[in-house]
Amino acid sequence: MEYKVAVIKGDCIGPEIVNEAMKIMDKVAEKFGHTFRYEQLLLGGASIDAYGVPLTEETLEKAKKSDGILMGSIGGDTTTSPWYKLPADKRPEAGLLAIRKGLGLFANMRPAVLYEELKGACPLKDSIIGDGFDFVVMRELTGGLYFGERKTVVEDGVLTAYDSLTYNENEIRRIAVKGFETAMKRRKKVTSVDKANVLDSSRLWRKVVEEVAKDYPEVTLEHMLVDNCAMQLVKDPTQFDVVLTENMFGDILSDEASMVTGSIGMLSSASLGEGKLGLYEPSHGSAPDIAGQNKANPIATILSAAMMLRYSFDLDKEADAIEAAVKEVLKQGYRTVDIMSEGHTLVGTKEMGDAIAACI
Ligand code: NAD
Repeated sequence: MEYKVAVIKGDCIGPEIVNEAMKIMDKVAEKFGHTFRYEQLLLGGASIDAYGVPLTEETLEKAKKSDGILMGSIGGDTTTSPWYKLPADKRPEAGLLAIRKGLGLFANMRPAVLYEELKGACPLKDSIIGDGFDFVVMRELTGGLYFGERKTVVEDGVLTAYDSLTYNENEIRRIAVKGFETAMKRRKKVTSVDKANVLDSSRLWRKVVEEVAKDYPEVTLEHMLVDNCAMQLVKDPTQFDVVLTENMFGDILSDEASMVTGSIGMLSSASLGEGKLGLYEPSHGSAPDIAGQNKANPIATILSAAMMLRYSFDLDKEADAIEAAVKEVLKQGYRTVDIMSEGHTLVGTKEMGDAIAACI
């Protein structure tokens, strides 16, 4: 099969890590008989340097026409880079927000995987993590408290602030469908997280999630209150497969989930909209402190490419091959500097990419 991949290499370490992800995709293409047609697009700082704005209309249109978007991280050193002397709406991050909005990406998926070989980086006890864990947080991205009406007014002489948390049934249904579709490609369990004992928006959330669940009889659905979920993530993270939740709860829980894996250079992410198009990028930033030194860990970006194959192109076997190659290389003892520990072999960005490509 042939796929059109929009590639946004990004800033600082972005080009280094994306080059390695493309190396792995090329190996997959060769091995499984596919063609990935890359179109390079500029976003963030690189777009400011070339066009004076962090995202052009043309870039957005080209991204819309692709089958999937692979991105490195964007942005620079926020204290020294001239990009941060520009007004807020012209800075690199404004481009990222604009492309997410322009593509209608309403779901954010962040896997939290603890590999057995990297157990030492996890702050939890051995007795809790067992052989490691593997779950994803599916967070609603464009509704809820962060997008509701807000105001600060004086009432009876007292300063009073209001933030409103609003969801309609359609917004809940489309993210719930993403959660169940993802579970169907995994271990077929959804934990829907809400605060239905207090909030009306959560009671509607629970009702709509239960309706959607009827279309996925193979998937086990459980409901969990958000305060309990925050505890369960550190008490027994192995119980989760897909954690489905609204915007603010997801913001907090996905950071907690990243923290328990212990390693920023390993965490991939996807932002998804209607249909199959998605934007895939590492969870970390552009790491200006190590840019251009062949030090960055490319694994988060390589695993993001694997997610693109699985969720946008339905190439499950190919995605499995990439994930297995990453595990194999960790088993062989290769480590970039961020995950290095005694008794292992220190390698650079390119060498890590080569080692993973050799295992495909
Ligand atoms: P960062 O994630 O870039 O770096 C934090 C620390 O982690 C640094 O010490 C860095 O060297 C290290 N690190 C990050 N990724 C690594 C990797 N793959 N391998 C090895 N080490 C790695 O966060 P920051 O320093 O706060 O932000 C730097 C820039 O990135 C800023 O301009 C920020 O706005 C931007 N940013 C972009 C995104 C994105 O593109 N989605 C996300 C977060 C931050």
